[in-house]
Amino acid sequence: MRSITKIDLQYAHRFYKFQGEAQYLHGHTGLLTIEVEDSIEPGVNMVYPCNEIQKIAWDVLKNFDHALILREDDPLLPAILAVYEKQGIKNGAPSNKMKGEAFKTELATAYPDCRLVVTKETMTVEGMIKIVYSLLKDKLNIAKLTFTSGVNAASQEYQPVGTIDRCPLCGVTMVNGVCPKCGYKRK
Ligand SMILES: [Zn+2]
Ligand SMILES: [Zn+2]
Repeated sequence: MRSITKIDLQYAHRFYKFQGEAQYLHGHTGLLTIEVEDSIEPGVNMVYPCNEIQKIAWDVLKNFDHALILREDDPLLPAILAVYEKQGIKNGAPSNKMKGEAFKTELATAYPDCRLVVTKETMTVEGMIKIVYSLLKDKLNIAKLTFTSGVNAASQEYQPVGTIDRCPLCGVTMVNGVCPKCGYKRK
């Protein structure tokens, strides 16, 4: 069975060199749907608590919220960093509090201090699904990701392998036989 949750992301981007309006800087509310597949954990009668899927995903995906997402070869990148530097906000600002954990993968690098994500490929809805999967695949049994942004939408199905050992009292992933949330120990 599947547990399904949704996350909103507000961001700015552009498709550098794309022959259409999207080559100009613009913004969206993107909607990500995460479907997690596993057995039902009998203690909680759930595959996985949806608010916990949201927490795991949000920890890293908040890097994309109220962020600018640019491809690594986009000349806007040095131009914007120069403005942020001059304004004194490149390395953070007191109001920039909702920061995700910095990450660097083959597909994207997050700079939470200046709310910027630099991508290897153009950040289309398809590109975002590839990035999200690479960030979450080791934390969740992802069966499907769907991302919509304006009129664009894409989805990809995956074949989850194995099952995650979950706490029978709160449903979250057990770490070495102990629940990190409620302290339950597997006998
Ligand atoms: Zn767009
Ligand atoms: Zn627990």
